[in-house]
Amino acid sequence: MTARAAREPHDAVVGRVDLVGGGPGPADLMTVRAHRLLSEADVVVADRLGPTAEVLRALDPRVQVIDVGKRPGHHTATQDEINRLIVDHALAGRRVVRLKGGDPFVFGRGGEEMLACIAAGVPVAVIPGVSSVISVPQAAGIPVTHRGTASAFHVVNGQGAVTESTLAALSDPTVTTVVLMGVTALPRIVEAALAHGIPPERPLAFVESGHTRRQRITRTELGGAAETAGAIGLSNPAVIVIGEVARAGLFLPEPALPAREPLEILEILETLEALA
Ligand code: SAH
Repeated sequence: MTARAAREPHDAVVGRVDLVGGGPGPADLMTVRAHRLLSEADVVVADRLGPTAEVLRALDPRVQVIDVGKRPGHHTATQDEINRLIVDHALAGRRVVRLKGGDPFVFGRGGEEMLACIAAGVPVAVIPGVSSVISVPQAAGIPVTHRGTASAFHVVNGQGAVTESTLAALSDPTVTTVVLMGVTALPRIVEAALAHGIPPERPLAFVESGHTRRQRITRTELGGAAETAGAIGLSNPAVIVIGEVARAGLFLPEPALPAREPLEILEILETLEALA
């Protein structure tokens, strides 16, 4: 899809803010509406996660891109600053796209940005995105529900306390637990689960950088998960899936995952492209 259609600045007194879900990474996993709003934007406020690089490169040079990307432990802009930024641009008459990884309302602080817009009288809309909650396990061939195996799934931010509801989900062999932002907290989660009597054999999978060329899938079990994570150097972004659906033999024979070029070849092509 084209970047910004030749679109002249408009003279609306108040612009608007669209909180746009960008999906897990590839630009073609964004919705058509997300692409359209990007093509109409005056200002794009982007995160680190999601389809940033590819999509931002394609924008018309007249579009102002503001990177507020957060790395764990290195907050480049506070949430208050982001709220103020999107509101101020909209009040100045601009169309603002707040591009976020995955879905804006799944651990994306989209609700806070929406409240800030409402409080300032700025028109605001939310455009759903493909959340990593479902799409990242799926990139590893893991269905979060599977008839006869898992009939529910529990989604949790790993940075928070290990609550009763998470322990209940982990205890139930018919529930899949999906942990986001869990890399640092993993040893704490495993410890709490084992102390609660959850079987150490409960299957567990790490899916790092799902849907990107850096995607890596590691299957292990709850009991040894912290050691495995240390051994492989588990790193962000990663989704941790715990439950029977993460068992290696769930689909036999193994499903044909989308074919991907070997990394080395892609790297070479990129280098050649950069030199050209
Ligand atoms: N709103 C986002 C989630 C934001 S929280 C969504 O709906 O997907 C950020 C967390 O999402 C990361 O710590 C990681 O757990 C997960 N995540 C997002 N994109 C990912 C990807 N491509 N691969 C693996 N994990 C991802």
